[in-house]
Amino acid sequence: MQTHILGYPRIGSNRKLKKACEQYWSGKITLDELLDVGKNIRQNNWKLQQEAGIDLIPCNDFSFYDQVLDMTLTLGAIPERYEEIALKKSETDLYFAMARGFQKEGLDITAMEMTKWFDTNYHFIVPEFHKNQEFKLFSRKIINEFLDAKQVGINAKPVIIGLLTYILLGKEKEEGFNKLELAQKILPVYIQILKELETHGAEYIQFDEPFLALDLDEKSKETYSLIYAEIRKQFPHLKIIVATYFEGLRDNLSLAVSLPVNVLHLDLVRSPEQLEEVLKVIPETLHLSLGVIDGRNIWKNDFEKSLRLIRQTTDKIGLERILIAPSCSLLHSPSDLDQENNESVLSSEIKQWMAFAKQKVSETVTLKKLAAENPDYSTLLLLAENKKAIESRKTSPLIHNSEVKDRVDVTTEEDAKRNKPFSMRKISQQDILNLPLFPTTTIGSFPQTKEVRNWRAKFKKGELNAKQYDDLLKKETERTIRWQEEIGIDVLVHGEFERNDMVEYFGEQLSGFVFTQNGWVQSYGSRCVKPPVIFGDVYRPNPMTVYWSEYAQSLTKKWVKGMLTGPVTILQWSFVRDDQPRSLTCKQIALAIRDEVNDLEKAGIRIIQIDEPAIREGLPLRKSDWKHYLQWAVEAFRISASGVEDATQIHTHMCYSEFNDIIQNIADMDADVITIECSRSQMELLNAFADFKYPNEIGPGVYDIHSPRVPSKEEMVELLKKAQAVIPAQQLWVNPDCGLKTRHWDETEKALIAMVEASREASKLLAVQTH
Ligand code: GLN
Ligand code: ZN
Repeated sequence: MQTHILGYPRIGSNRKLKKACEQYWSGKITLDELLDVGKNIRQNNWKLQQEAGIDLIPCNDFSFYDQVLDMTLTLGAIPERYEEIALKKSETDLYFAMARGFQKEGLDITAMEMTKWFDTNYHFIVPEFHKNQEFKLFSRKIINEFLDAKQVGINAKPVIIGLLTYILLGKEKEEGFNKLELAQKILPVYIQILKELETHGAEYIQFDEPFLALDLDEKSKETYSLIYAEIRKQFPHLKIIVATYFEGLRDNLSLAVSLPVNVLHLDLVRSPEQLEEVLKVIPETLHLSLGVIDGRNIWKNDFEKSLRLIRQTTDKIGLERILIAPSCSLLHSPSDLDQENNESVLSSEIKQWMAFAKQKVSETVTLKKLAAENPDYSTLLLLAENKKAIESRKTSPLIHNSEVKDRVDVTTEEDAKRNKPFSMRKISQQDILNLPLFPTTTIGSFPQTKEVRNWRAKFKKGELNAKQYDDLLKKETERTIRWQEEIGIDVLVHGEFERNDMVEYFGEQLSGFVFTQNGWVQSYGSRCVKPPVIFGDVYRPNPMTVYWSEYAQSLTKKWVKGMLTGPVTILQWSFVRDDQPRSLTCKQIALAIRDEVNDLEKAGIRIIQIDEPAIREGLPLRKSDWKHYLQWAVEAFRISASGVEDATQIHTHMCYSEFNDIIQNIADMDADVITIECSRSQMELLNAFADFKYPNEIGPGVYDIHSPRVPSKEEMVELLKKAQAVIPAQQLWVNPDCGLKTRHWDETEKALIAMVEASREASKLLAVQTH
């Protein structure tokens, strides 16, 4: 039996890599200094795994930005627009230009597109494919990293994105070809890499093929067989690991076990039930890597549960053919729980239930020892300790709250329904709200200036007391309300100055959440996030936003919109419990948000927005699982929104997703108004809503908030015309794409003034038309 790790976090302790990259980009350190930081992190990671006793230690899991971009550079799949940079600059600068664009020295070259890595919050750089594209070994990173490891005495296991997964992640940039046709052209480069690695003494190679656990078409399946057969032919002795993760093999099972490889890795956290199926058909020569430790969450492994899976396997195929591993790369876990040593932030009672990457490495090794014939006494002690921690989690009053559980149990379908259908609510709402045609509003946040962030930092450090901090925020809120009144916005917002982050702000006030000090995970490039941890039953001890909404409303006769984050988004952007279904946790959050919605209404807030930007990204990877997810996700939103009177108007907001294939479900959410991002696609997104005849009101974003560019009134009038061509004017709102918190005041002011003018112009034009 052996142990291995699919990949280790590369951001280094205290986000060392992030800091070094940013310093390099701003010219504060040299390329050599940056490369040194990378080398250092790799060596530390190797050493840590070696000392823990891991048998197969990965290399090439390190990356300065993204492992898919690394592969693109390795294959020389460099888009033409970087040609000049490729000629003039170092490989690293070319690499960063592809990741981030290049706007210097008279050049203006856009970055490559970035998108989500399967269903994680990690983002990769999307490969660009052309029909007649040529590939060649360009970057020698993988070979160099293997040699680096060798130098420190480690015969590492190079990790490389599988050829099929690499292709399937990419995008065809011209019509008239299928990217799978490129497989035969890319293969020689893979072969060359493997040859060099083998010559230098590599014994193992890990191909990451998560697509093997996803829905595949016939052509992809065929190509899988062809490519791996060819690789096997050329390398009869190399030990090939194919790693699947994030899903079970399901209908690809027979394909997966028929590939001529040595080891198949299974994600037994996401899909433990696949083990039985695999064991039924496993060929005699195939070894299995059992991904029993959750690579993308922060919970301690339940050893007994893992040992059951391991024993089930040894009973069938014996000890020799087994590897033990985390379910996927530990890239998605924070680095080291030992760094969490502030009892008031993370209590030791909760901490004992957790494991970060470093701890998961130890767990992997301990599991191997426990699975061996005669584990020694100290190993058995570890098992006993583990049992105790798992047991305490099952019963701890910190986690389990019978009131919350009872309330979930008595929640009925009725609780997820507004009293009347939208057509009737609309009349009651219009009676009270009295809004003009093309009402204007914003998505919630206003610029979080340096000063605002500074106040919060000072308040946290104790340099400002609560009253001082509160006064400053109130002033900023009042200024924002006054300014919105002045330029004539119809539905105002308070600006969200009191919030750090749209999930954290609520997590901090809800029971069942904790925060870490150093639980950073890479989101993209140098950007890291520190997700809240949902560890227990969720409820709302006190109102969370009423104070600010009530204050803002007290300042003005216009309507101020209450602003909440929805249950699905809170769930999606946190580390979640693994001791109950996500749907149940989501329902608990929904009930907490419902309480807040109802309290806002009681406080006189008649328009309440519940943001759900993450609803689409929560979609399962397999299409056959969509229905179930959408059913509970939509229900959770409705539970949060349905406790109010007909006349109270519920808004929701979504951005940066494809809506076409879930439009029915968006309609099922039954929000009175939805604001969505649209301007980047020039209102094309609206077609989905138009074809579907979306029944409720809709605010298609009329300008892109991700750019400092100030849009002109005329531009926005044009967009509104486009919108009216497909959606009746009576249903339309006018608003930006998303929150304004990353913008500066100066551009925000100009843009919103023009937006209000655009709305008025659109009304005038409509009046002329109808007379
Ligand atoms: N209300 C939030 C804001 O304006 C919405 C942010 C989002 O969609 N991500 O900042
Ligand atoms: Zn948004």
